[in-house]
Amino acid sequence: MTRRKTSPIWHPFTQHALQPDMVKIERGEGAYLFAADGRRIIDAISSWWVVTHGHCHPPIVRAIQQQAEQLNQIIFAGHTHEPAEQVASAMLKLAPRGLDYVFFSDSGSTSVEVALKMALGYWHNIGEPRSRIVVMQHSYHGDTIGAMSVGARGVFNAAYGPLLFDVATVPFPSEGQERETLDALEAVCRDKPAAFIVEPLILGAGGMLMYPAWVLKEMKRICEAFGVWFIADEVMTGWGRTGTLFACEQADVTPDIACYSKGLTGGALPLAVTLCREEIFEAHFSQDRSRTFFHSSSYTANPIACAAAKANLDLWNDPAVAGRVAAVATMQEKALTPFRADDRFKNVRRTGTITALELDVRDGGYLAGIGPKLLAFFGNRGLLLRPLGNTIYVMPPYCVTQADLDEIYAAIVEAADL
Ligand SMILES: *Cc1c(COP(=O)(O)O)cnc(C)c1O
Repeated sequence: MTRRKTSPIWHPFTQHALQPDMVKIERGEGAYLFAADGRRIIDAISSWWVVTHGHCHPPIVRAIQQQAEQLNQIIFAGHTHEPAEQVASAMLKLAPRGLDYVFFSDSGSTSVEVALKMALGYWHNIGEPRSRIVVMQHSYHGDTIGAMSVGARGVFNAAYGPLLFDVATVPFPSEGQERETLDALEAVCRDKPAAFIVEPLILGAGGMLMYPAWVLKEMKRICEAFGVWFIADEVMTGWGRTGTLFACEQADVTPDIACYSKGLTGGALPLAVTLCREEIFEAHFSQDRSRTFFHSSSYTANPIACAAAKANLDLWNDPAVAGRVAAVATMQEKALTPFRADDRFKNVRRTGTITALELDVRDGGYLAGIGPKLLAFFGNRGLLLRPLGNTIYVMPPYCVTQADLDEIYAAIVEAADL
């Protein structure tokens, strides 16, 4: 056997044949990462969209330390604990009105699986079995089999295609073509699907594709009119990214089921929650044990992760945090201005604190040759920026400074000449 690499670790979304060396990180603080070779790196993508306030944010670190000494794990079937109770009640206060129950899991993908199972469980238990799921083109909902099934098909999941279940897909509401999306949704809703799942306002992994709040509102209205459960996947859009705490607020929409993860613990520990309306819980509430919601993972509502989440939820009650989000959104808009007039860049756009733009190259798409080149170029500049093909986006933690952003965007300008 030939040893292909020095470390036995198989990294996620990494082609080891092309990228033999991983960057070793020793420490994180605020918007910065410190590498083993002494370099300081600006984290311009919040370490894959999870870090909100900053790395090792002191109130969250303290909460983790305290909880670790008191109770670090407990089976969550038949048991509960204070951090979980606190997270559940704080979530219901912050989330759109009308969501009544909180189910814990441990990642965005599992929160989506839970959402799909809740929707199907509802229809099964009321004796009107429905199983078809409606999705939006270019969506991403995670990498487990169910989450992949409701996400875009492509190079990422070609090998697993035979296992993925069939869904109905409505087109992405590109500017000027919103009506087509709404008409398509209305048409499929007539066939009584179980649910429609969508990323509100921004499709993340699909390329930071943005659409307006009125479309989100219309999609919810259509689902409601046809009695189709509306699932909002706020795994990425939650926690201030779109300018409001949750994206659905901007459309004044209460989803029937909502998934939150990534920034739920401020990016410190893995945790997710799926919230649902009372009716969905009610359909599972029965003396008949076969109507139980049969889902769990070993670490459901881990107390340390819940303590981190509780510390994060407390932070969102401080108006200064919303102020930081607004300040980052303003700085981000200002940084984009020169790009809007630069014809080497296309589709220059922003929603809240997230900006995205495309390098005008002939060969686009996720596997575009430009991708690895950009990654290496930004890495050499001490920036953690990980373009999606030729789409460059900036999604910083909220402690980012104007000086950090200046450095980030100066590198993006130069990247156009690679
Ligand atoms: C990241 C992401 C997921 C999956 O979350 P994991 O924690 O990586 O499993 C699901 N939905 C959306 C919208 C995401 O951005």
